[in-house]
Amino acid sequence: MAERHGFDGVERRGLMFVLSSPSGAGKTTLSRLLMERMPELSLSVSVTTRPMRPGEVEGRDYFFIDKVRFDAMSKGGELLESATVFDHSYGTPRAPVEAALSSGRDVLFDIDWQGTQQLREKARADVVSVFILPPSAADLEKRLHTRAQDSDGVIRGRMSRATHELSHWAEYDYIVINRDVDEAFAEVQSILKAERLKRERRTGLTGFVRELQRQLAQ
Ligand code: 5GP
Repeated sequence: MAERHGFDGVERRGLMFVLSSPSGAGKTTLSRLLMERMPELSLSVSVTTRPMRPGEVEGRDYFFIDKVRFDAMSKGGELLESATVFDHSYGTPRAPVEAALSSGRDVLFDIDWQGTQQLREKARADVVSVFILPPSAADLEKRLHTRAQDSDGVIRGRMSRATHELSHWAEYDYIVINRDVDEAFAEVQSILKAERLKRERRTGLTGFVRELQRQLAQ
């Protein structure tokens, strides 16, 4: 994995920062804020076979593709991970992630628990995972309705799926309860900042400390 210079000039490995949650818990808002306020992050844009929602933009929210193309990408090893969610296929294109990591950027993933498990199996040491919880079921339902992009049937489906998704919370490194978006954002940002400082990720530390010792010995 590529090296990058941290803010303090010490080289470190890039990390894969995963946000998951039941839909409606505010994860999309949080990842948008992260991208706005931490410009050194690179967002992994997934491919999906689900139809585009109003307001979504091709290449920004997803690459919208058909099932034939999805299956070809999957078969050709072009996806780093993939999953079926709400009867549609989703996957992370491998090449942009590898390019970002190899140019020394951390990558943000908005993927579900199935994809997170696959990334963990492939690159355990480089994956940092955060699960976002809604403060209550009522809050989750309200957000799904406010979003108003899906029909009542779809919303009911998402509510019942949320119960299943919630059961995976304990597989994540960190849990953030999204009572207030600014507070939740500050927590997610702190996690990323702290993870960047982890000793084992900071591959340049040995040399840095050696140089400090050399200077001190003079
Ligand atoms: P939505 O259709 O609401 O945009 O996303 C539905 C769910 O699919 C969300 O939980 C989202 O995180 C997840 N998802 C989006 N892209 C991917 C992907 O590439 N891989 C996996 N495993 N899940 C994804």
